[in-house]
Amino acid sequence: MGASGEKALVVLSGGQDSTTCLYWAIDRFGRDNVVTLTFDYGQRHRVELECATRVAELAGVANVRLPIDTFAALGGDALTDTGIPVEPVSPTSGGLPNTFVPGRNLVFLTFAAAFAYQRGITQIVTGVAQTDFSGYPDCREATIHALQETLRLGMESHVVIHTPLMHLSKRQTVELARDLGGLPAMALTHTCYNGQRPPCGQCPACKLRAKGFFEAGIDDPLLQSV
Ligand SMILES: [Zn+2]
Repeated sequence: MGASGEKALVVLSGGQDSTTCLYWAIDRFGRDNVVTLTFDYGQRHRVELECATRVAELAGVANVRLPIDTFAALGGDALTDTGIPVEPVSPTSGGLPNTFVPGRNLVFLTFAAAFAYQRGITQIVTGVAQTDFSGYPDCREATIHALQETLRLGMESHVVIHTPLMHLSKRQTVELARDLGGLPAMALTHTCYNGQRPPCGQCPACKLRAKGFFEAGIDDPLLQSV
């Protein structure tokens, strides 16, 4: 794979899904053609940033950290505001969980496209999925497709946004990681909304992760490592 010589940028959060996407990108484009980008958006769980660094190191690819502190200044969501506990559904967000950071993926992918453009990279890989997920509207295929069109127009580029997990269940994502040799890296990933290591096992993110590993019949390397 990777015979095309195209370069790819993986948006790496340090979580399970983006780590799986990293291994997908290495398989498809070749390790030497893959770079990862991690956003420091003021997330309350700083451990995510360290996880991304360690995952990239293990995978043997470069990791660039880009600061975007505007979301924390906006406030109002549980992922950046330490005064807000994680709740499954917030009464003010129209049924979305209060871990939803409005516009986050739109901004991330726009900055990723700008970063890629300046380095001659046309392939962007992101771990968004509309199946089996928290219902974030900026993770849906229609949103990503529209954004890709917007970026192509706005940057006069041929950027492609790859979403290899878009239609996969959590079980299938775990199986994909296994098939791509990404399971050891799972021990370095971070999922828990409460920022705990070992993970709390109670929050929506922990439960979803556990469900995927259980259904795949695979022990989560993270739980065995901590
Ligand atoms: Zn948790």
